[in-house]
Amino acid sequence: MILDFLFLDENLCLSCKRETHEIHFLCEECLDKLDFVDNEFKILDYNTRVLYFYNDFMANLIADYKFNRNTSLYKVFGSMIYSYLKEKKLFNFDYILATPSSKSVLNKRGFDHIRLICDYFIKDLGISYLDSFKKIKNTKVQHILSREDREVNLKNSFFIDEDLTGKSILVFDDIITSSNTMKEIIRTLEKNNPDSIEIIALASSHRVKK
Ligand SMILES: [Zn+2]
Repeated sequence: MILDFLFLDENLCLSCKRETHEIHFLCEECLDKLDFVDNEFKILDYNTRVLYFYNDFMANLIADYKFNRNTSLYKVFGSMIYSYLKEKKLFNFDYILATPSSKSVLNKRGFDHIRLICDYFIKDLGISYLDSFKKIKNTKVQHILSREDREVNLKNSFFIDEDLTGKSILVFDDIITSSNTMKEIIRTLEKNNPDSIEIIALASSHRVKK
């Protein structure tokens, strides 16, 4: 019966779609492929937390979500971040800043992949989106540029016109590689005098040794 298939489908791992999902909508086999690193380091003096190492499995999962529009994977990433924030008791933020993409990227991709992940948990955490923070420049893809051009490319690419005095902000992005984008986001936020800034990302290609 068709209903049986629908029911079964709901319980399947959102990555391989073969086995029943256990945690974060992933099956045991897929969960085994994750490399949970729980890294903590600083970007411009601000506390940064990264959950997973950007290994092949994570790279494929994120690419499938972003570029193949396998949008249901927002639940996987949302659940990862949500569980982590709960476990570390990281609730005390006024705002979450879902790293914004430029309009052209959003139009091309068809959805805001970072915000959709936050949609999964934001209501439960009682945090608001920092919607006044915008990406105002259509930056080029960073890795094709020289070192100097990268800085110029990112400069003034974000904008916010809101006094953040006394406000605590959690910035979320999917991957942190060079951290240049994150630095530009922090510099933009700093101009508006926030009380605190913390950063969280799903994955990074750098492993912080403990
Ligand atoms: Zn699986």
